[in-house]
Amino acid sequence: MANPCEGLKVLIVGAGFAGLTAAIECRRRGAPVLLLEGSSERKQLGDIISFGSNSGRIFQRWPGVEEAFDPICHHSSGLDFYTYDNEFLCRQSWDAEADWGKMFNGHRGEMHEIVWDHALSIGVEIKMGKKVSEYFETDNEAGVIVNGERISADVVLAGDGVRSTARTIVLGFEDKPKSSGYAVYRAWMGTEKLKENPLTAWLANGQDHHAGWLGPDVHFLVAALQNGTACSWVLTHKDEADVEESWSAPGDIEDAVRTVEGWAPIVHTIIRATPPEKLVDWKLVFRDPLPTWVSPKARIALIGDAAHPFLPTSIQGASQAMEDGVTAAVCLELAGKANVPEAIRAYEKIRYGRVLATQKTGVTTRDAWHKADFDYVKKNPESVKLPREKWILDFDAQQHAHDVYAEIVKSLQTPSESKPSL
Ligand SMILES: Cc1cc2nc3c(=O)[nH]c(=O)nc-3n(C[C@H](O)[C@H](O)[C@H](O)COP(=O)(O)OP(=O)(O)OC[C@H]3O[C@@H](n4cnc5c(N)ncnc54)[C@H](O)[C@@H]3O)c2cc1C
Repeated sequence: MANPCEGLKVLIVGAGFAGLTAAIECRRRGAPVLLLEGSSERKQLGDIISFGSNSGRIFQRWPGVEEAFDPICHHSSGLDFYTYDNEFLCRQSWDAEADWGKMFNGHRGEMHEIVWDHALSIGVEIKMGKKVSEYFETDNEAGVIVNGERISADVVLAGDGVRSTARTIVLGFEDKPKSSGYAVYRAWMGTEKLKENPLTAWLANGQDHHAGWLGPDVHFLVAALQNGTACSWVLTHKDEADVEESWSAPGDIEDAVRTVEGWAPIVHTIIRATPPEKLVDWKLVFRDPLPTWVSPKARIALIGDAAHPFLPTSIQGASQAMEDGVTAAVCLELAGKANVPEAIRAYEKIRYGRVLATQKTGVTTRDAWHKADFDYVKKNPESVKLPREKWILDFDAQQHAHDVYAEIVKSLQTPSESKPSL
C-alpha cells in the first residue's frame, strides 16, 4: 500500500481492539499514529473473546498475527446444545460458513497482547498511563487533555470503551449506562480439576470442545481449548443489580451454582472446579443507541464500545469495534488530510445502520434462548441454533468502505441525508 495518509496526524484514545485496529489501519496507510492508553501496565486481562470471519479477515491482513493466534485459539468444528437437564438438542456445525472466512476465538488478554505487539512493530506509538480527561476541537484540529498536557492532531478516534468520556463532547451531555437486566459469571481456568472427574474429563482430552446448556432465563456455555489445558465458561442469568461493569469484579462460586439449581450435574461440576479467584461477576450494561458518534466539527469520532456496546449474545462486539477502526482508516485515506470532517461523517454514515442491525441480534438470540418454551425446543431442537447471518459474517469492511465512500460523501451533501437515522 502507498502512503495515502502521510502527514495526517491521528490521535487514538484507548488500546482495546477498536483503538488498536484503528491505529494499525491508519499506520498501514502511512499516518503517524499516537495511541494513548489509560492503564499504566500491560496485563493479560479478560477471558474468552470471539471474532467472527468479518474481523478474522482483518487480522489476516496483519503479517504474523494469524500465525501467532492459531496455536492459542479455539478450533472446534461446532457447538453442541443441551437442555438444562442434559438432553442433547443438536450440534451447530460451522462447516456451512467455511467459505465466509476464518473466525478466531481465544483468551482476550493473549490475543490482545499479540495485536498490541504488531501495532508496535509497524510503528504505532503507544503511551500508557495516559487517562484522557477532556477533548477539544477547532475547525483545523482536535485533541485531548491528559494530566494537564494538551495533545493535538488532525483527528481523534476515541475507543475508550463502555465508560467512554469522549461521549460527552460528542453528545453534549453525559449519558448514563443502564442495566440490561442480565449479568454473566465468567471464568478462564486450567483443566486439572476437570480431568479428575469422569463427568468433565472429556473437556481435557486434548481436543477443542464447545457446548451450551439452555434453561429458563439462563444459559451456560463452555469451551475447551489449547490442547485440553484451558477451559472457559460463561453463565448468563437475570440480574437487576447496579450496573458496575468491570472485568475484575470477583464472583462467588456458590452464588453462581444457585443460578443453575436443578440443572445437570455436569454444569455444577464445571462451576465448582473453578478456582474462586478466577470467577468474575460481570453486570451487562445496556445503552440506548446514540444519536451520533461524531463531534460537532467532525474531527472526533467514537469507535467500538464507546459508540455502541454490544450484548455478548450477538458475538459481534469486538468484530464491530474492529470494523469501525478499518472503516475510519479507509475514509481518512480517501479524504486525505484536507478533508478530515468529510471522512469522519462518512465513517459514521457507513457504519451506523449496520452496527444497529447487528446489535439487535444480541437481543434476539438472548431472548430465543432465555424465553424459549422448552417443550417446543425439545420437539424442535434446531430452533436454538445461533442465527449465523451471512450479511454480518461474510463481509469485508475495508472493501465495503472503498465501494461506498464516494456515494456516501455525495449523500452527505444533501442536508436531510447527512445524519444517521435510527
Ligand atoms: C480489561 C478488559 C477485559 C475484557 N475482557 C473481555 C472478555 O474476556 N471477553 C469479551 O468478550 N470482552 C472483553 N472485553 C470487552 C471487549 O474487549 C470489548 O467489548 C470489545 O473488544 C470492543 O473493544 P473496545 O476497544 O471498543 O473497548 P475496550 O476493549 O473496553 O477498550 C477500551 C480501552 O480504552 C481504555 N480507556 C478507557 N478510558 C480511557 C481514557 N479516559 N483514556 C485513555 N484510555 C482509556 C481502556 O483502558 C481500554 O484499554 C474486555 C475489555 C477490557 C477493557
